[in-house]
Order: sequence, then structure tokens, then C-alpha cells
Amino acid sequence: MGKIQQLKIADTFTKQLPADPVETNHQRQVSEACYSFVNPTPPKNPTLVHVSNEMAKLLEVDSTDSTQFLSLVTGQKNFEGMRPYAMCYGGHQFGNWAGQLGDGRAINIAEVETKAGNWFLQLKGAGRTPYSRGADGLAVLRSSIREYLMSEAMFHLGVPTTRALSLSLTGDEVLRDVLYNGNAAYEKGAVVCRTAPSFVRFGNFEIFAARKDHVNLKRLADYTIQSNYSHLGEPCKAVYLQFFEEVAVRSRKMVVDWQRVGFVHGVMNTDNMSILGLTIDYGPYGWLENYDPGWTPNTTDNQHKRYRFGNQPSVVLWNLTQLANALYPLIEDVPALEKILDNFKVEYQKEYQAMMLAKIGLYDMQLDDANLIQQLTENLRKTETDMTLFFRNLTKFEIDAPLDHIAIIQLDSYCASNEFDNMTFNWKTWLNEYATRLKNDATSIDDRHAKMNAINPKYVLRNYMAHLAIEAADKGDYSVIDELYQLLKQPYAEQRNNEKWFAKRPKWADEKVGCSMLSCSS
Ligand code: AMP
Ligand code: MG
Repeated sequence: MGKIQQLKIADTFTKQLPADPVETNHQRQVSEACYSFVNPTPPKNPTLVHVSNEMAKLLEVDSTDSTQFLSLVTGQKNFEGMRPYAMCYGGHQFGNWAGQLGDGRAINIAEVETKAGNWFLQLKGAGRTPYSRGADGLAVLRSSIREYLMSEAMFHLGVPTTRALSLSLTGDEVLRDVLYNGNAAYEKGAVVCRTAPSFVRFGNFEIFAARKDHVNLKRLADYTIQSNYSHLGEPCKAVYLQFFEEVAVRSRKMVVDWQRVGFVHGVMNTDNMSILGLTIDYGPYGWLENYDPGWTPNTTDNQHKRYRFGNQPSVVLWNLTQLANALYPLIEDVPALEKILDNFKVEYQKEYQAMMLAKIGLYDMQLDDANLIQQLTENLRKTETDMTLFFRNLTKFEIDAPLDHIAIIQLDSYCASNEFDNMTFNWKTWLNEYATRLKNDATSIDDRHAKMNAINPKYVLRNYMAHLAIEAADKGDYSVIDELYQLLKQPYAEQRNNEKWFAKRPKWADEKVGCSMLSCSS
């Protein structure tokens, strides 16, 4: 493992793409540039809370020298060869073009060359940049714990995601109004060092297209293709189209995975869509506990629920349409772009059906299966059944005694009692149909159970769990962070000693802020 001083800095992004010529740190519109050089604000009194040793190893960063490491991951100092910068991007927020956004509280400190390719190190919460738009450029411990734990958990769930190297306290205090009700209070400031093979978003392309800056649009597309999609060959019209198609495929696979595990992003604006199809920007995300396609964890989106669980696939398609518009000047072929977008719908449906079928242990799609899935999700929704528990417990289903499974579903806890008899009937119908369907399937039980347990996670980061880690960390106890970090490294393993986390959200968490609903205040 290399010392920090020996990190191989590969500044392809800054060398190959145009910089903002202004280097002072004041807020402004930045045109004809992909980024602005800006240094992190040195933290007052930084301390390390948690390190992902796995990521350190992958990045070939020595985390054992804690002083040096801490300086690196909190932006206390720039090491040789490092020239930090914030990226310029725009975006559609909640369906409307929002103009220039940019890295308002993220600073890329280095692009490092590793055996696993080039990775960017980015500090989230390291102070103001030219893109901060009046905000402080900082992040609080609570939201940083959530991003740190969740991005690593998603990786271990097999969902494409940006990752996290470390979580640190800055020693600074940060003012936040959690409920947006005029009760602002100081919270502990923190910084996550997050990493990815690219932090380019849909919005990086959109800003150039909106400004009709086709020269830089092409530069950014060429750079992205050569750096991250080099298998497509030298950039040209046909390759730009293939590039768009592959972004569409990757984004589709990402959202199929979200629907598989029950992840709700919460703020799927185009500035939060990665050009690599990675889950990025963990803000007011949440886990579907009671199965409810209409649910969003984000209080800011409470009225229209644009980013609700069931709408995520449509939103990805909507966002891809914005990307198609942005890339149009390079491609100039509307029917070809429309074909890719239309194909998204068809392929998504196929992949979604196959994924849901696999969750219940069936693999060769038959005529009535779409109906079986539809009835199932309808039942889950109506009886407010816990999604993770239901699918994981389905390996306990007895083909010869299907109705015994009612006890496992815990229908008795269903509150709307006037519907109780109806729903019991609906569940009985479904369980009988499922048993019949299984009887006609050739997969052996062992094989089926192994496959089901490999895609139905047992342990997910329910909001209340993150909340417990946050409460303890606020008092200086980081043991819950580590406990959850270790637990979520193996979300599909039985981990018998950790069964306490394989349970419904406790009652106390039902209405508590941060446990079911979250604001954007982070
Ligand atoms: P988000 O919805 O968190 O992805 O953020 C949307 C935009 O607001 C991005 O341009 C962020 O960089 C910016 N932003 C969010 N929080 C802050 C903050 N505390 N300081 C400066 N910019 C911020
Ligand atoms: Mg964002």
C-alpha cells in the first residue's frame, strides 16, 4: 500500500477539460468550463470517526498513518500533486430546469490511479465553493453517517453506487433547521470522503446544452467516453449514440436494483443522476418498510410525491430524456434517441418482471406470472406488509401447507380491521396459487432457496437503524456505526447473532423525525 505522499495522482479531468479561469472563491456563474479550482476550508479540529479499510485498500491509500490520512480526508492540507476543484453542472429539480447548480459542498481533492482504474476522491462538506449559492458548503454528522453507511451498504447489496472511504468530524459547528420551522440549532459538522470512477452527472451535460456551448459539450462527452466508456471506440456520432444507450441500460439496471431491495432515493433530480449509472447523493433517502409504492421519505416532496418508490423507474426515464435532449447536438438523430427511450420501457418491464419472479423463487416466466406478481404487490400494499421481512421469509413457505404462511406474514398486525377478512381471503388465494405454481416448477428446493437468499437481503439500513447510530455518535459513541457497517457488509448472510436487526421498525420510531420521514436539511 502506498503512503499518502506516494498516491499516484492522475489528473485527467483537470488536464483534459477546461477550467474556470477565475480562481477566487466567490459565488458566480461559470461558463465554458467544467470546473473551478477551489481549496477545502481547513476544519477546526478534525477527528476520524470511521474508515472503510476495504476502500482504502482498493484506492491504495495508507490509512494506518492516521495523522496523514486524517489530513487527506478532511481537506486539512493538499498533498503533492493535488489541486482540488468543484465541478460545474446544472439540473432539472423536481421537473423544472434549475440552471447552474454545481458542487456547492463537494470538492474533488484528487483523481488517483489504482490497479482498479482511476478513482476520484471527493470531500462532501468541506466548505464553500463558487457553486454554493448562498449556502455554507458544510454537512452535518447526521447526514454524513447516513451517506457513509448507506453507500457502502448499497455496494454490498450489489447495487451500483458511489462509495465512501471515510467519515470524519470537522470540529466545526453547523447551523441547521431540520424541520424548516424556524428552530435552527447547531449540529456537529462532518465530512465524508466519497469515491467513484467518475462524479460526472447528467447535469454536467445539461448545463452546456442549455447554454448552447456545443464545443464544451463535445469535450465532456469525448472525455467521458475515453475515460469510462473506452470500449465504445473513438467518439463520433454513432459512438455518442451508443454512449447514450449504455447510460440508459446502466441507469435501468440501477433502478431495477432499487426496486428489488426497496430503496427510495428521495431526490432524483438530474444533477443526482450519475453518468455511470451509480446511485449518487444520499440525502433524504429511505427504505421501504411497509410495502407502499406511493411512499417517499422526502418531506420536501410530500405534496406531489414525484420521487415515490413506484415512480422511480418513470423518473429515470424522464431524466434520460433530459440527457437525450442535452446530447442531441452531438447526435442529431431524434428517431434513434427515441428508440432507445422507448426500449427502456419495454426492457424495464421485462427486467422488473424477471426480478420480481426471482424474488419469489421462479425463473422461467409463464403466462400468468405477471398476474401473480401483481396480486402479490397488491396484497403487500393493502396489508402494509414489511417488504424485506416478507421476501426473506418466503423460503419458509411450505408448498404442502401454503396457508400456514399467513402466520409468518403476521397479517394479525394489520390495522384496518374492516378489511381484515377480505385481505385474509386475498392472501389465502395468493398463497394457494403460489403453491400450485411452485409445484409446476423444476427448480430444486435447495437451489431455489439459495438463489432467493442471494437476492432478497436479510439486513437493510432502515431509517431507524441509522437514527440509532446517529444518536450514539452525537454522544461520542461510534460503536453503533461500526456495528451497522459490519452488519451491512453481508446483507444476504444469515448472521444469526444479528437477528435483532431482522425485524420491523419498532413502534417508537413510527413518528420520529429521521426514522420515517426526512427533510433535505443536511
Ligand atoms: P442535493 O439536492 O443535495 O443534491 O443538492 C442540490 C444542490 O445544492 C447541489 O448543487 C449542491 O451542491 C447544493 N447544496 C446542497 N447543500 C448545500 C450546502 N450546505 N452548501 C452549499 N451547497 C449545497
Ligand atoms: Mg446533488
